[in-house]
Amino acid sequence: MKRLISAKDVVAAAEHHKNIVVDDNTIVTAQARDVAKERGVLLQSEAEAAAEQHEEAPAQEHHEEVAPQHHVVKEHKHEEKEPALSADELEHLIAAAFEKGIWTKDDIDTLVGKKPAASNPNIVPVGVSGRHIHLSKEHLEQLFGVGYELTPIKDLSQPGQYASKECVTLAGPKGVIQKVRVLGPVRSKTQVEVLAGDTFKLGIPQAIRLSGHLEGTPGVTVIGPRGTVVLNEGVIVAARHIHMNPAQAAERGFHDGQIVSIKTGGERGGVLDNVIIRVTETGNLDCHIDTEEANALHIKCGTTVEVVR
Ligand SMILES: [Zn+2]
Repeated sequence: MKRLISAKDVVAAAEHHKNIVVDDNTIVTAQARDVAKERGVLLQSEAEAAAEQHEEAPAQEHHEEVAPQHHVVKEHKHEEKEPALSADELEHLIAAAFEKGIWTKDDIDTLVGKKPAASNPNIVPVGVSGRHIHLSKEHLEQLFGVGYELTPIKDLSQPGQYASKECVTLAGPKGVIQKVRVLGPVRSKTQVEVLAGDTFKLGIPQAIRLSGHLEGTPGVTVIGPRGTVVLNEGVIVAARHIHMNPAQAAERGFHDGQIVSIKTGGERGGVLDNVIIRVTETGNLDCHIDTEEANALHIKCGTTVEVVR
């Protein structure tokens, strides 16, 4: 559980001549830090607190470093203007946002400049995928004509991948879905990625798979402007995953195949489990979820989520 240290906690610690132990799960409000400075309360890691108790020499260094600095406390008396919110009100606001999950500890650390977003190994950008299809060269030609080439209209987060101008129609035993975007470039095998809800509309079973794992998946009929392809397999509901290259994985302490969770705050905040880390040479850091998952948790494309390992 996360722990919030407010100015009140610091005042209480000062009155008892105690310091406060903080760890990665502790959030200290800005006002609490100011009060700690003023009152000479140390915000220590467990290791520092232990070192102070057991070792004489390093403890002295600590004292010099963080002795109460009354001489640097700023004078605010000359400021006549009333602030819109008092320090107390601000602190309540921040504490409430934290409690409600509107801000995570990482968000607050980033907002107060304690931690640049890029340096936090658990914060990853999100890309939201709608339904789409990857085509083999053979199927592209069957659907669009011999010698046909895709027309890229938008680069995707993964290097070399793009959305094309072309769309196809999917037809299953129960229904049809039009305007399914073709992503390029062509692949060795055709793969259709649909939303869970689409499988009900099409009337096909749901196979939650990572890209490329198509054995035993259902098929569908794909209709293009120049022809039709009947797939015996290849329709998946994409398993949520996080792309990265080996350097990004090493830097952040992830490995290929690792299963993690992702967490987001806000009114519809929550946690999604079973997110698979995919480390490939051509990967680039991006967490891929589909529009149903994103809508359920109010996650927007281009925002970030926190990885929980
Ligand atoms: Zn992906």
